[in-house]
Amino acid sequence: MKSPPPSPDLLSYDEAAALVGDCVQRLGKGHRAIEAVELERAVGRVLARPLAADLDQPPFARSTRDGFACRAKEACTHELLKIAGTTRAGLAPAGPLPPRAVWEIMTGAPVPAGADAVVMLEHVEAEAGQVRLLPPRKVAPGENVVARGAQARAGDELLPAGTAIHSAQIALAASCGCETLPVFARPRVAILTTGDELVPVSALPAPGQIRNSNGPMLAAMVAAAGGEPWVLPTAADNAHALDAALAEAADADLLLITGGVSAGKFDLVEPALARAGARFHFTGIRIQPGKPLVFGEFPVKDTASVRNENRAKHCFFGLPGNPVSSAVTFLLFAAPVLAALAGRSETAPRFALARMAPHAERHGKPGLTRFLPAYCNFDAPGGELPEVAFVPWHGSGDVGALARSNCFLVVPEKAHGLEPGAIVRILLP
Ligand code: AMP
Ligand code: MG
Repeated sequence: MKSPPPSPDLLSYDEAAALVGDCVQRLGKGHRAIEAVELERAVGRVLARPLAADLDQPPFARSTRDGFACRAKEACTHELLKIAGTTRAGLAPAGPLPPRAVWEIMTGAPVPAGADAVVMLEHVEAEAGQVRLLPPRKVAPGENVVARGAQARAGDELLPAGTAIHSAQIALAASCGCETLPVFARPRVAILTTGDELVPVSALPAPGQIRNSNGPMLAAMVAAAGGEPWVLPTAADNAHALDAALAEAADADLLLITGGVSAGKFDLVEPALARAGARFHFTGIRIQPGKPLVFGEFPVKDTASVRNENRAKHCFFGLPGNPVSSAVTFLLFAAPVLAALAGRSETAPRFALARMAPHAERHGKPGLTRFLPAYCNFDAPGGELPEVAFVPWHGSGDVGALARSNCFLVVPEKAHGLEPGAIVRILLP
């Protein structure tokens, strides 16, 4: 059976993204609680205050090579210069360097006072305690030396608040002597799966039942996006169960519901949200998978119970139940909201360019922007765009196709498909 054409009343992807973007802007400005975490536990968190250099970086003029510290001008005469001493990493600055002399030096060692360059070991010939720069080689002042404070001066801001902390930021914080870092409290994200057919991972599904894969998937996605997942028990498809579950989730900073938002007779989530006082920004958008996506906010209740004050209102997403739809709509819309709640300055979904594989199928559906599971081969020859192809799938319930993909291929709304070899956009997880 052919599905009916998408209603032009529904928002396009761009319109929906702009609406979510407004909300992201607003949430990004809010106040949020700050806590200290040990450096080793800071990965995935968000810097709450700027990171400043405690000392000049590097704290002394440092040699980047094994060789001989010298005066560049003297070395360039190619005359024999006396080796006045030896120094290595870990020793206090040596010197001063006498006239017409060099100082043997190892990588990472402070350059002796008086020297302005380091000639590499490979570029000199040594003779009875003296060395000569091999002609026609020259050395310029500053060569192979990182001057004191070249990277930063004590007190300089190195990273702004709102920076997501990965290994490189941990390295920088370590170099500044930070044993702990001030980070924003993680937003608590309630994950409510709905559906009479769902059974827990540990259960063997009876006829008609399926295992709940969205709960664990979304918990993982929330954690990766900087939130604290709060997985609620699955709610049955009836008004009473949904009302009770929504009441329980009222404390969350963000609510993600899956299932029950399509047009079916037992899709009761929207009415339940309405009963709980929700204001809807949209109910359905022109994308596939993910068309039934619902986005809105609850009004503020009593402010005393608000965990994070940035949650002026409490946003929710009703994600479609199919796992691929849930994953795509989370990445496109819920992850930016979560990033803003977490205090991250970078909130936008990550898109990149790739080239369609030569024999790729087309997969266009005019009227809908599609985000289809795809595999991108990033191991492209130098200078070439990585090559991407659709992962064969059996529709948006195909968790296997999702798990075998590493991105989503974007098929624009107006496209009838993507030409083999064309430059295309991919959404990265
Ligand atoms: P719904 O959005 O409730 O109409 O569900 C659409 C499809 O997704 C149905 O086939 C559901 O069985 C499936 N589904 C709903 N929730 C989940 C879940 N938590 N895990 C896996 N599949 C689900
Ligand atoms: Mg359902």
